[in-house]
Parts: sequence; structure tokens; C-alpha cells
Amino acid sequence: MSEPAVTEPAVVAFASRWARAVTGSSYVPMELPETEAYLTALAGQLLAAWRTEPFDAAAGFQVGAAMVDRHFTNPDTISKTLAMVSEALNPAQLIDPAAVTRIGALQGALAAGYATRLQERTLAEQDAIRIAATTARSEAEMAARASDARFRAVFAGAAIGIGLGDTNGNILDANPALIKMLGYSVPEMRVRNVGDFMHPDDALKVWALYEELIRGERESFQTAKQFLRSDGRGVWTHLTVSLIRDTDGAPEYQIAVVEDVTDLHRLQSQLQYQAHHDELTGLANRALFQRQLDQLITDPGKSGRIGVCLMDLDGFKAINDSVGHAIGDQVLVEIASRLDGALSHEGHLVARLGGDEFVILIENTTGAQDVISVAERALEAVERPITIASRAYSVTASAGLVERAATAADTADLIRAADITLYWAKADGKGRWALFDPERSDREVAQYTLARMLPAALANDEFRLHYQPLVNLADGLPSGVEALLRWEHPRFGHLLPGRFIGAAEETGIIVPLGRWVLETACQQGAKWALRFADPLRISVNIAIRQLADRQLIDGIKQMLDENGLAPQQLQLELTERAVIGTDSEPLAVLRQLAHLGVRIAIDDFGTGYSNMTYLRRLPVCELKLAGSFISEASPNGERRSVDAEIVGSLVSLAHTLGMTVTAEEVETEEQADALRELGCDTGQGNYFGASAPAEEVQRLMDKHLPHVADL
Ligand code: C2E
Ligand code: MG
Ligand code: MG
Repeated sequence: MSEPAVTEPAVVAFASRWARAVTGSSYVPMELPETEAYLTALAGQLLAAWRTEPFDAAAGFQVGAAMVDRHFTNPDTISKTLAMVSEALNPAQLIDPAAVTRIGALQGALAAGYATRLQERTLAEQDAIRIAATTARSEAEMAARASDARFRAVFAGAAIGIGLGDTNGNILDANPALIKMLGYSVPEMRVRNVGDFMHPDDALKVWALYEELIRGERESFQTAKQFLRSDGRGVWTHLTVSLIRDTDGAPEYQIAVVEDVTDLHRLQSQLQYQAHHDELTGLANRALFQRQLDQLITDPGKSGRIGVCLMDLDGFKAINDSVGHAIGDQVLVEIASRLDGALSHEGHLVARLGGDEFVILIENTTGAQDVISVAERALEAVERPITIASRAYSVTASAGLVERAATAADTADLIRAADITLYWAKADGKGRWALFDPERSDREVAQYTLARMLPAALANDEFRLHYQPLVNLADGLPSGVEALLRWEHPRFGHLLPGRFIGAAEETGIIVPLGRWVLETACQQGAKWALRFADPLRISVNIAIRQLADRQLIDGIKQMLDENGLAPQQLQLELTERAVIGTDSEPLAVLRQLAHLGVRIAIDDFGTGYSNMTYLRRLPVCELKLAGSFISEASPNGERRSVDAEIVGSLVSLAHTLGMTVTAEEVETEEQADALRELGCDTGQGNYFGASAPAEEVQRLMDKHLPHVADL
């Protein structure tokens, strides 16, 4: 083992703390400085492994074995070493999952290397004892053998238990180490038979091997075996039983060499437990959940179906941030215990995946209802107020549910589905569950794919503008059009903006796309200005994101100039949400636009945070009342409903503020009449004409509007 070329301070500090931790717990024929030097080399190896990419835990195995080679063999030593590794490599005890996984892997490899080498050494020692015993036999009778100095010395002094028995299994003698290990005195041992030490957990083959040995069909066998001590406690051992033959070669005695490995065994099961459980809450962890899920998929219960309920606490970060992590941790512990209490006895696995994420694995489901019922109980368990230090905390959770045939499931796919569904539950308002819906998921996937296709679609000229007439309610004549974007997708066909505008905004492609819309609409506006005697107003939808585009204002100025359009002919529609509650920069842009003379309209008014007094401070010329308002304004013949009154007062308020009002989604004559009576200026909707390509809309308008040529 080579020393690192330059021993860095981190390694030295690690080794020196390690040396102090282990000195005294093992009998080591080395002074502290020498121990430190030896451990420095090992610490260097561990740190190097920890930092190397790609990560490989193999160094841990070598370090574990090297410890045994230098007699660091007390079980306490290995426990302290494992604790040291975690402290030294992750001093801040970060809950970074990658770090935790690496440390776990290094600790596991270290314990494995340690256990393997210890076992090798034990077996070597046991062999030496067996040889000593056999030599003794070849020299004299059993009595003489007993007095054989060499055998006696080994027998009495060995740290390892040795027992002697005849071929009937009667125990003849036991050395001090075995007496101590099993808690019986020598006379008590002598009245016992080997068969009395049978343990319910013994592997069946152990006793078959024993029979073979007694019959002289084998010389020895080795096994891991549990013994029951006189006080009822269990002892885990490595056991080697060998046969001793008489001078004629007939089986005469048996000799058992027994090493106590209880601590090592306990350590291994503790490591095993730690690897599969969450430290904070004691619930199963992600690894165990994953393993159980894999198992269930290959070997489902009799229904052949499984369910997963993935839960995430709502706003848990706020608790952590406001009252601290210590309280946050207690909340998690309480929630874990409630979930466990409410569901584990039914055989469902409750696991914590990390942070505030929990999951319940439901076996043998017969349909979605089974998972829903588990989710409802789980959400209810979380929602009961939690009292910590006489303060009550209220927490809710959202859950994503998936239930399907195990054969149709794939672990990663199932978790992904639960994750998507959890997101739906959050988006739908939290504190609720959502059930996985493959169609909705496909739709979202398609949307995601659409998002990626947008830039190419713009380059390939796949977008079109349709126009919808805006009709003056007083005389029924078209006063303008709204430009509405369409995507003629080569594979999916005619796509409405609802399918892609959101993605275009998220990806930012809305900026160049919106510029194209403005340009195309202005060009069309210019054509109609040449055709119709009264200029038509062109209304164009603008996304908030476009307001941040520094070229927007100059671009619009240029478009108006190039197409010979008066600014008042262009109207920009922004949604209420886009202008209200935004920071000052978009507002400054709006004011500049208004200054140009371009009209600003608030689209879908009434669906957001309607605040007329706020609107008054904006350069707004028009309100477009949302469709929901209109259909309620005149339900089946009953003209003046309460909503009609609201519309009426909105209209008069808007007029007082110098704004005009357009009603959207007018579908019937009654609605049109009602809105006219309420004082609305303009109507838009299928009743007046659906959106259509320019030529079609033009044919409609040709019927109503005087042409320039006619003048
Ligand atoms: P919007 O600006 O409120 O447009 C009105 C929507 O109502 C249009 O849907 C239109 O087809 C629909 N509509 C018209 N008359 C009726 C009717 O009588 N009944 C019903 N139920 N609906 C009617 P569309 O074309 O699907 O557009 C949806 C939204 O997409 C628009 O709502 C607008 O917010 C956005 N959008 C459309 N084009 C653009 C664009 O070029 N840029 C941006 N940023 N957004 C756009
Ligand atoms: Mg609009
Ligand atoms: Mg609208």
C-alpha cells in the first residue's frame, strides 16, 4: 500500500481522528504514531475513491481487508470506522442523495472487505487448531492427547471456542472460550449432546453434513450457525466440525471450532437495515421501495395488478423556512408515523423517497378504487393538525395515483406516471389526489413534442392567420377583425392556439412568432385599407413576453410605415393577467405604444383580477368582455339576470373612463340584442361570423362594406 505522494491535510486529519477512535478498541501491536501512519495510507485511498469519477467503491473493500491484516479486528473498531467515514467525507452531514449513496457504498464495501478477510483468517486459524488436534491424536490415546502440551496450550488459550465430542454426539470437553461463549459450565456441557444445540434457524443441510461426518463419510464441514446461550440469547458463529479417527481409521471423536461473529453479524444486518430505511423517519427508503416494486412487477399477487400512490406535501418548504428544519423534521416524522399507522397493517409498503415525498405501494389491487381509497386515507392522515411544542401546524399533501396490471408495468414508467399525475394534482389546486389518465398524458407528451417543433414550423411557414369580424352592435356593420393564429401542421393538421401558444410563450419562440403575426396582420390590414372605403381595425393578440422584446416598438413603427397604416388602425390585445400585477417595465412599454397612437385592449376581461381603478391608470382604449360573461348575461330568454346588471355597470364604468367595450363569443341573436341594450359597442362571435382565412372573411365583408372602387 503506497502513501499518497503529498499527504494533504484532509487525509492527515481524517487518519488522526480515525486512529484515536480505534486505538484501544482493538488489540493492535502498534503505537499511536505507527497506527496513524498506517491509517493515513488507508484514509488516502478512501478519499481518493470518494473523489474519483466515475465512482468505484472497490477501494473500500481493500481498506476493510487491510484493517484485518493489521489486527484491527474488534467489532467496535469497524463500527467506529464506519461512523468516521461518514463524518470525514461529509462533515456538514448534507442530505445530498448522491453523497449519501456514495458514502453508503463505501461503507458497505469496507464492511464486506472486513468481513471477508476476517472469515478467511478465522478459517485459517481453525485449520491450524484442527491440525494440532490431529497431530495430538496420531501420537497417543485420548488421555495422552489431553495431556499433550501443544494441544492443551491451544485448547486452553485459544480465543476461539473448541469443543470435543464422541461419535454419539456426547460432549466430552469444552475450552474456556466456548464456555464463555455459550454460558454453560464444563460439567453442564458434559451432560449435553451436540443435538441439544440444534437451532430452529439452522439450515437443514447442516445436520445432514453432521450425520455424514459422524458416519466417517467426510472429514470436516464449515457453516454459519446460531447457538442459544444458557441465558437464552443467541450467538452467531462460524462453525467448523472435524472428524478424528482412531488408529484403525474408524471415527472416534469430533472436534468443533466455534468463532463468535455476533457483532459482525449484527453490524451487517444494521448496515443492511440502514441501506433500506430512511434515517429520519424509519420508513422504507427509495432503494427498498424500488426493490419491492421490481419484485411485485415480476411476481404480482393473485389479482396481477398493482398501485402506487405518490405523495408530496404542499408548501412544506414554507414550514422549513419559517420555523426551521428541526420543526420541519418533526412534522415529517409525525406524518411518517401516521401514514405507517394508517396503512402498513394492511400490508402496504409506506416509503419516504426523500424531502417531503412519500410513496405507498399497494399490492394486489382490483381497480383504481383501491388506490383512491388508500390515497384518501393517506391525505386525511396528513391533514389532521400536527402539534409540536404546543403549536399546531396544518399540512396538506397532493397525491398522484397509478393503478395497472403488473405485466403492463415497468418500474421507471410507473414512477414517471405517478410523478406526472402528482403534478396534475398540484396544478389542480393541491390538497387532492389525481388519477393517471393515459390520454391526458399522451396529450401532454404531444404538446411537449409540439413545443420542440415550433421553431422549425416558423421557418417552414406552417403558420396562418385567420380573421374574425368585430361588429358594431349599433348598426351591425363590421368595424374590424381580430387576427387569430393557426398552425397547419403537416402531421397533426389544423391546430388552434390553445395547443401551442402556451409552449410558444414558455420557450420564447412567441417573440419571433408574434412579430410574424404583427407583420402578416399589418400587410392584410393594408390590403383591406385599399379595398374598403372605411378602414378596418386590425386587432392582434400580444403575449406578455413580447413586451420585453426591445425591438417591439421600433418594429411596430416600421410595420405601420411600410404598410401605410394609421396607428389607430392597429389594436393590441393583452390579457388582464398580463398587464395587471406585472412589474413596471411592461407598463412603460404599453405607455410608449399608446403614445404611438396604437390602441390597447384588455382581452378576456373578467377572467382575471378585474380592477377598474387600476385599469384607469393604464393607457387602455378597450375592454373585451370574456365569453363566460356573455353566456351568463342572457340565459334562455331571461334578459336581465344579475350578470346582465354587472355587464351593464361595467359598460357604463368603461364608458366613463373613455373606453369602448367589445363582447366576445356572441353566439345568438338574443345575446346580441341584450348586449346592444346594455350599451356594448362591439360584438364578436360565431353569431356574427367565425374566424376564417382572409379571403373568406373578405367575401363576408364585401356584402356589407362600401368599396373604395365604388366611391
Ligand atoms: P382570444 O383572443 O380571446 O380569442 C377569442 C377566441 O374565442 C378565439 O379562439 C375564437 O376562435 C374564439 N371564439 C370566437 N367566437 C366564439 C364563439 O362564438 N364561441 C366560442 N366558444 N368561441 C369563440 P382561438 O382562435 O382558439 O384563440 C384562443 C386564444 O389564443 C385567443 O383568445 C388568444 O388569447 C390566443 N391567440 C390567438 N392568436 C394569437 C396570437 O397571434 N398571439 C397570441 N399571443 N395569442 C393568440
Ligand atoms: Mg384576443
Ligand atoms: Mg378573448
